[in-house]
Amino acid sequence: MAKFIFITGGVLSSLGKGITAASIGALLEGRGYSVLIKKLDPYINVDPGTMNPFQHGEVYVTEDGAETDLDLGHYERFLSTETKKDCNITTGQIYYEVINKERRGVYLGNTVQVIPHITDEIKKVILKHSDKFNFIITEIGGTVGDIESLPFLETIRQLRFDVGVENIIYIHVTLVPFIRSAGELKTKPTQHSVRELRAIGIQPDLLVCRSEYPLDNEIRRKIALFCNVSIEAVINAVDVSTIYQLPIYLYKEGIDSLILKKLAMDNKEISLEKWDEIVDRIKHPKDEVNIAVVGKYVDLKDAYLSLNEALSHGGIANNLKVNIKWINAEDLEKKFDSITFEQIDGILIPGGFGERGIAGKINAANYARIKDVPFFGICLGMQCAVIEYARNVLKFTNANSVEFDENTDYPVIDYMMEQKKIKNYGGSMRLGSYLCQLNEDSNAYRAYGVKEVYERHRHRLEFNNVYKDKFIQAGMNIGGINPDKNLVEIVEIKSHRWFIGCQFHPEFKSKPFKPHPLFVDFIKAAYSFKIDKLKEIKSNVL
Ligand code: GLN
Repeated sequence: MAKFIFITGGVLSSLGKGITAASIGALLEGRGYSVLIKKLDPYINVDPGTMNPFQHGEVYVTEDGAETDLDLGHYERFLSTETKKDCNITTGQIYYEVINKERRGVYLGNTVQVIPHITDEIKKVILKHSDKFNFIITEIGGTVGDIESLPFLETIRQLRFDVGVENIIYIHVTLVPFIRSAGELKTKPTQHSVRELRAIGIQPDLLVCRSEYPLDNEIRRKIALFCNVSIEAVINAVDVSTIYQLPIYLYKEGIDSLILKKLAMDNKEISLEKWDEIVDRIKHPKDEVNIAVVGKYVDLKDAYLSLNEALSHGGIANNLKVNIKWINAEDLEKKFDSITFEQIDGILIPGGFGERGIAGKINAANYARIKDVPFFGICLGMQCAVIEYARNVLKFTNANSVEFDENTDYPVIDYMMEQKKIKNYGGSMRLGSYLCQLNEDSNAYRAYGVKEVYERHRHRLEFNNVYKDKFIQAGMNIGGINPDKNLVEIVEIKSHRWFIGCQFHPEFKSKPFKPHPLFVDFIKAAYSFKIDKLKEIKSNVL
């Protein structure tokens, strides 16, 4: 039976509960324990798949094809354990399950209620897989005090007695704000939020206090006293310059040894070397590259969270700092100004849905192709590159994806047969891991160094095989296919220095310690493009 760690959040949202959960998991894993992290989300949607990224941020896709909260991305990047469908549970899923059971007559004779029926269902998902791991960490979405997360909190309160008090701890992540006019860190919001938690029967064992400046002993003592915890249980998480510093920071605060002590687990030896090395590389790059990301949700960085991370992993692997220039695709629609790209060493078009900004993305793909700028198109980005190639190289003037023009003469991106029949929007895309067989004569193969890879998908449309030969004759290289469904997975341009479009989302599988080969190679290509540009400028001056 696993030990259970619950992570709640207080004061306000966006305090980094997910990264805290992931860092604690990483420390326990670093001590040789197996860890699984789950996230309970209080909204009624069954999954975040149909939510607008502006509201929810990125939808993270697991290997087994679940559309989940972006915190699962942090869990995978920090730990070696893969997350699964049942690692992200929403209120919607719980009610769906309970209502289905009620209709099937499972509760015959009973009034179906939040306590115990909803809470029992929540318990079931929390306890799942507890025979396979030393620790199950569960993050509760939302902020304590919200009405919506109450059933989750009530469940974890009850669980203390179900699994035994020695097998469970509660960690509360709060904020200790610095009030500039007073020049002081303030503990009151933390006190209030812990009081709120205690009012519903949960006494936190540990507090992770986020702050802009370090907490001194006086403040720690005050928090301990008012929140009913020991002073060493007041853990300070000061703002760090990179999220990969947090495990080291929390270790220095003694969080993992305290957790182990409270849960009566061995304080096994820990090695933090790999984290030190990553942080050192991030802080001391040999040079930098500028990457333009041409997207639709560029004002909300969370919408491209994994992409952001994967680009930085590509930088870490090459000892380079990656500066991302976010470009709103709509700004490139009417007036394409190449000055925008003057300082740019690589262009990336990420995944997306809907027609807004498409013309701008096609313009960016065109610029990258013609100017030989390293180009990486992901999912929709690949589809835009294919449309651009069809229109401007194959001269299929109104070529398009049927997502944007159902009546195009050249549907170079189209639905495959299975997708044509689907009527529901939720959970109905090509989702999760599929095999990609690489063409040995491709940049993709040279980057991966292996013939077969599995990559994660989230899309409805595909490269239309009807036009495949025409594209190949016109200089496009098919870098990889899915042999089972005969689908194009990767396209490249033969004459270009580095131009890759992939139908899958490689960013979901990149980790700081295992950077994704395509991102590593893309950053490498961008850097050599930068060096070549500098050489050219020099030779022009001489
Ligand atoms: N909208 C496109 C499709 O459904 C691309 C999706 C994506 O980029 N994830 O195929």
